[in-house]
Amino acid sequence: TDPALIRNFCIIAHIDHGKSTLADRMLQLTGVVEQRQMRAQYLDRMDIERERGITIKSQAVRMPWAPTESDGALVPHILNMIDTPGHVDFTYEVSRSLAACEGCVLLVDAAQGIEAQTLANLYLAMENELTIIPVLNKIDLPAAQPDKFAGELAHLIGCEPEDVLRVSAKTGEGVDALLDHVVRKVPAPVGVADAPARAMIFDSVYDAYRGVVTYVKVVDGQLSKRERIRMMSTNATHELLEIGASSPEMTPSEGLGVGEVGYLITGVKDVRQSKVGDTITQLHKGATEALGGYKEPKPMVFSGLYPLDGSDYPELRDALDKLQLNDAALVYEPETSAALGFGFRVGFLGLLHLEVVRERLEREFGLDLIATAPNVIYQVAMEDGTEHTVTNPSEFPTGKVASVREPMVRSTLIAPSEFIGAIMELCQARRGNLQGMDYLSEERVELRYQLPLAEIIFDFFDALKSKTRGYASLDYEPSGEQVGDLVKVDILLQGDRVDAFSAIVHKDKAYAYGVRMASKLHELIPRQQFEVPIQAAVGARVIARETVRAIRKDVLAKCYGGDISRKRKLLEKQKEGKKRMKVVGRVEVPQEAFIAALSSD
Ligand code: GDP
Ligand code: MG
Repeated sequence: TDPALIRNFCIIAHIDHGKSTLADRMLQLTGVVEQRQMRAQYLDRMDIERERGITIKSQAVRMPWAPTESDGALVPHILNMIDTPGHVDFTYEVSRSLAACEGCVLLVDAAQGIEAQTLANLYLAMENELTIIPVLNKIDLPAAQPDKFAGELAHLIGCEPEDVLRVSAKTGEGVDALLDHVVRKVPAPVGVADAPARAMIFDSVYDAYRGVVTYVKVVDGQLSKRERIRMMSTNATHELLEIGASSPEMTPSEGLGVGEVGYLITGVKDVRQSKVGDTITQLHKGATEALGGYKEPKPMVFSGLYPLDGSDYPELRDALDKLQLNDAALVYEPETSAALGFGFRVGFLGLLHLEVVRERLEREFGLDLIATAPNVIYQVAMEDGTEHTVTNPSEFPTGKVASVREPMVRSTLIAPSEFIGAIMELCQARRGNLQGMDYLSEERVELRYQLPLAEIIFDFFDALKSKTRGYASLDYEPSGEQVGDLVKVDILLQGDRVDAFSAIVHKDKAYAYGVRMASKLHELIPRQQFEVPIQAAVGARVIARETVRAIRKDVLAKCYGGDISRKRKLLEKQKEGKKRMKVVGRVEVPQEAFIAALSSD
């Protein structure tokens, strides 16, 4: 295809503002999906995505569109719509999808206005120098206030309110005009046709039947069927078994040229061999310089995952192996816990990623899991000059600590201005640092905070929602590390540390954490034959203490000595109960107590 006739664009929107519905309408209008095949959210394929209404994996669809010129002529164009993942955890994938486009549709719900994800994605689009087409959706809603929000949008991106398009993705109103607009306003891709091929990977998806399907945009040159290609980050070589475009079903072709977006299949079975952001070139006379912007996925949040039933450990390992084929950001290694047995320390991009993985393990693989409280990565410098990377609080080094660095995020919060006070209070309590504040309109305000990631992975979002009656939205991106006044708090039962409960917290919060965990465990641990002291300690210093008093529990005493079979039955029963007990030192703790204590509330 002549690059002059290609338009690559994406839709960016806050969750629920109608991105999937608009994509559906476009598929229908351009005729690539027939009416009778149409089902809502055609492109959201994963079950979890569908149920939660979120888009996790991006897809690219090729659609023909011929806008009517002023002289009445129809000029057929190719539109490639690239669906970006909608959630903060996947910022890097979003940025690569955007980098494959020349323009974007900035979609805003005409009854809601701009939200945090709208802004975060808009900033990414601006960094990638995309042409931005502002669009208000849901104008069919009685509650829509298109004039008001057109003003807000125009103010934000620096255009006139009249330049803001208005559509209803539901009824289809204005969508054809929007497609015309995409052709007119979004620049055609530019690249060097006779240069060595350079194609950027913006998505990589594992398919059980075909292996990894890699989505690319060809920037320079041409990739052809059956030629040998090279991944520039690893120098691994593969044969191009198939290449083509999705429209939206995969349609093979002879090759892809400058500006074209499509998929390719090499037979690899693992997405880590086909990494998002990497550059593909030919093996022979290939490019020497990769396209910029490649980054290795970096897990930000860690949690221990343990099978509820210890004998499920091999199943958990197999399930993680399988998930990793489809998820380059998922990392894990075996770990043992005195309290929870054999499991894995698993690294995630963020909380949603963690939840999605846990849910898939439970649902698709039928596993019952215990997860330890999520934690971030700490860089610990010791006074003896050694440095440690800590992904598990229980492995925090002992000895003289010089400094502890923790990951930070740059966050954007948007809410009606009446909630400014409540938001500031919350962010301050979470060790936030106000970076700036802007009014989007008279009633709505954007606050920017620098926050420790550790402070928002726990229950920040819930706290924010409850303090703002659900009106605030939040987005954030990693922003380096900072030294924090952090200490490790241990929880001890009868003097033995319970590894699953160790936590790294700010010095000022250590006491509260210790008291909370000690009293939780006090409630949950049944009485034993002896007294069980529960302590919270920072180093050797005990900061909280509770005691579970002793009882004498002699089940056989009830049997009056006579009935042997009854005695045996009771002993059997007691043994059964013990199976689900974990022993810490001399203390037997029912597994349920650990689970209950680990669950956040
Ligand atoms: P996404 O999260 O941005 O992909 O949003 P969806 O496309 O899933 O839409 C969220 C909700 O808004 C769904 O219930 C849609 O049916 C609804 N919706 C989307 N577009 C419109 C519209 O133009 N008008 C109305 N009334 N509802 C819409
Ligand atoms: Mg969606």
